[in-house]
Amino acid sequence: MNCINKIKNNKVLDLVIKANEITKKNHSNIITLERALLISWWCEKGDCSFCYMAAEKKRINNPEKARRNVNGILAEVELCTRLGWNIEFLSAGYSSFSTEEIKNISKKIYEITKKGTWLNVGISKDLKEYGKEIIGITGSVEVVNPELHKRICPSKPLEDISNMLTDAKDLGFKKAITIILGLGETLEDINYLTKYIKKYDIDRIIFYSLNPHKETEFGESSPPSSIYYSWVVSTIRINFPKIEIICGTWIDNLANIGILILSGANGITKFPLFKIFGTKYGKRTEEEIKWTGRELKGTFTDKNRLGSLKSQYNPNYDKHIEKYIKESLKNKY
Ligand code: SF4
Repeated sequence: MNCINKIKNNKVLDLVIKANEITKKNHSNIITLERALLISWWCEKGDCSFCYMAAEKKRINNPEKARRNVNGILAEVELCTRLGWNIEFLSAGYSSFSTEEIKNISKKIYEITKKGTWLNVGISKDLKEYGKEIIGITGSVEVVNPELHKRICPSKPLEDISNMLTDAKDLGFKKAITIILGLGETLEDINYLTKYIKKYDIDRIIFYSLNPHKETEFGESSPPSSIYYSWVVSTIRINFPKIEIICGTWIDNLANIGILILSGANGITKFPLFKIFGTKYGKRTEEEIKWTGRELKGTFTDKNRLGSLKSQYNPNYDKHIEKYIKESLKNKY
């Protein structure tokens, strides 16, 4: 029986209950906060029809200026580490940083976190250049229907993403994919997704629900329902007990968090972590996690963990990073 028939034969709450049992048996009780580290607002492709970077591309005259300062990136990593937040991945649009630059930034991140970083920097044939500073490679599959993928992401063919994931496996990296729900896929497409996860031996899947950007063709679309989202996540958890699942939800959908954790999420992402730290939204996020019976790694409310305005990581970078730490912590104490 394929998974879509299994879904139809089960009510969603039954799936969630089963998924929750499987998660508790195969994973720790900890829920992580995952921070995507965006290092540039420029993407040379700029034609995925849901992506705000496509709209940004028309406004950016000089791609160099869309690159973040490396010390600002490192300050963000240091603050995430203080607060117990994981780095979800290093993320950049196409042709914004060279492989060598990405490697150097990742090495500096490794010095702070003492862990390899995931990459989500597009299709690359240079994976062999990376070492222990990188733990895994993310393929931005985005759309779970291959035909829709061709139309929605015309410049990043699924075949090239898949080949990169095969290379990643051969080189000993972990493999992740990103999926956005709400781009026109149907429940039947979940069968395709389960086959893809099996075929490419995916270790981690990151789900997002569509965040409609007004300058894109999805500007007036509605994000998918929480029940549909939990249906998909619990189905993946039931089919793949060991896979790591990260779920993204936007600040106006924080109520999704609890049900997504019960459906199998190990971590949550996407909402603006720094902006909501210490606010009612931060408290709400912690409440959502608390009521699932899980334990949050890190904090949204404990101001003691913000630490000092000085960088504690490397005296050589300290002075340069400090300016960015001060900016981020402004009004937070
Ligand atoms: S390749 Fe990535 S960053 Fe570039 S337009 Fe597509 S989704 Fe956006």
